[in-house]
Amino acid sequence: MKKHNFYAGPSILPKYTIEKTAEAVINFAGTGLSVMEVSHRSKEFVAVVDEATDLFKELLKIPDNYSVIFVGGGASTQFAMVPFNLFNKKAAYLNTGAWSKKAIKEAQMFGEVDVVASSDDKNFNYIPKGYSIPEDADYFHITTNNTIYGTEIKYDIDCPIPLVADMSSDIFSRPIDISKYAIIYGGAQKNLAPAGVTFVIVRNDILGKVEHHLPTMMNYKTHIDKESMFNTPPVVPIFAALQTLRWLKDQGGVEAMNKVNVHKAGLLYNEIDRNSMFKATVEDLDDRSLMNICFVMTEGNEDKENAFFEFATSKGMVGIKGHRSVGGFRASTYNALPVESVEVLVAAMQEFEKENK
Ligand SMILES: *Cc1c(COP(=O)(O)O)cnc(C)c1O
Repeated sequence: MKKHNFYAGPSILPKYTIEKTAEAVINFAGTGLSVMEVSHRSKEFVAVVDEATDLFKELLKIPDNYSVIFVGGGASTQFAMVPFNLFNKKAAYLNTGAWSKKAIKEAQMFGEVDVVASSDDKNFNYIPKGYSIPEDADYFHITTNNTIYGTEIKYDIDCPIPLVADMSSDIFSRPIDISKYAIIYGGAQKNLAPAGVTFVIVRNDILGKVEHHLPTMMNYKTHIDKESMFNTPPVVPIFAALQTLRWLKDQGGVEAMNKVNVHKAGLLYNEIDRNSMFKATVEDLDDRSLMNICFVMTEGNEDKENAFFEFATSKGMVGIKGHRSVGGFRASTYNALPVESVEVLVAAMQEFEKENK
């Protein structure tokens, strides 16, 4: 039976990415060697990093005064790397969920953190608004897509101080005005590549201003100066990321991707709102994520949660169980998820309603 992969991360990748990577695991760029066993400094692999960096810049229209680097350690290492590179006196953070909280905790090790607003009071089911950003902070940090709770800041906010964004789970899902950000980072395993590589987009002029000790590997400049080759980068995930970037370009880039994402999310949210058995955990339409769509059983139908899970599983759905801190269901609708998979889920919800009402 055909599987429909709704996992939140690691998550669905384009078939193109998987096939091209599988080929290169056997024979990379005509070398007769596996991509797993060639030097990261071989000309064939340097070409991979160069093309991936260039495509990153092209697809996101990244201005010339920014650098793009690929490093290890996951987005979680960036929670510390950002303050290492930017924190002098004080930082400001928006608390929109579990990942924001972890980022805040790391920043607090460097000194005062001003949490300007939080949606903790309602289990993070909305994006706080109307907060003010302190102008004396070194930077303001946001998590644009809250993978666990299904909320998303789908626009580029105006910020009077350097803006830092964790875009692990919505990078390449929409066009971004990069010039509004000082740093954008993310783990690749949601919308780009297998786990193991982390991307960072840095505006060059914000670096070199901290007074504290900066360990070599934590310093963005180390990786920028050596074009992601200071130490051995995650070779295979970078190779796979390049394939996804080529695929993205072929699909028409982020504008085209965004249209499909809006369509897919619309199909599913419409069904959740219409169907008497289900309700969305995020009510405000503006705050609803296009990438992670969370829903629970309506009142009186809570006891049917397991039955729907079994039903959906029997129809090929994989990975739709909600995160334990939200419960219910979460369908992740990343770039690589075909519209068809959403249609199959919607059909299953309709059938389940008919049979169980
Ligand atoms: C998954 C995720 C992370 C954690 O990424 P790792 O690469 O596992 O460290 C951080 N932020 C967001 C928004 C995520 O979705």
